[in-house]
Amino acid sequence: MATDTTDTTTKTADGLMPVADNDAAWKARLSPEQYKVLRRAGTEPPFSGEYVDTDEAGLYRCAACGNPLFDSGTKFHSGSGWPSFTSAIASDAVELIEDRSHGMTRTEVQCARCHSHLGHVFDDGPRDQGGQRFCMNSLSLDLNKT
Ligand SMILES: [Zn+2]
Repeated sequence: MATDTTDTTTKTADGLMPVADNDAAWKARLSPEQYKVLRRAGTEPPFSGEYVDTDEAGLYRCAACGNPLFDSGTKFHSGSGWPSFTSAIASDAVELIEDRSHGMTRTEVQCARCHSHLGHVFDDGPRDQGGQRFCMNSLSLDLNKT
């Protein structure tokens, strides 16, 4: 193999990016802030993210790999300081994992395609819409406006 011409950051027609297979590749693709949240399960400061208050219609994709995650129709204003959704776009779009860090038991939400950290899900969402609150980091999301 003479030259590696693989561009790991170019989206294909369906909006997906290849899933990086090593940490250095993720670091090269993501901003330092995104890397910290997506690959190190960090949390952006509340009210800091670009999608906290947006009502624009579109598809929220994983900022790391382009996997479709949330429809803007399920977004609601939770007052938490993070973009919040009542449900994922498909049950297999995300993976839910028990998280016992920081002395709490929470449910972590990961992208099912690339296993990047997205945020947590809580059961204090709007009751008439299922009662769930997917509390996401804006840094983990990429809104494709429609
Ligand atoms: Zn992903």
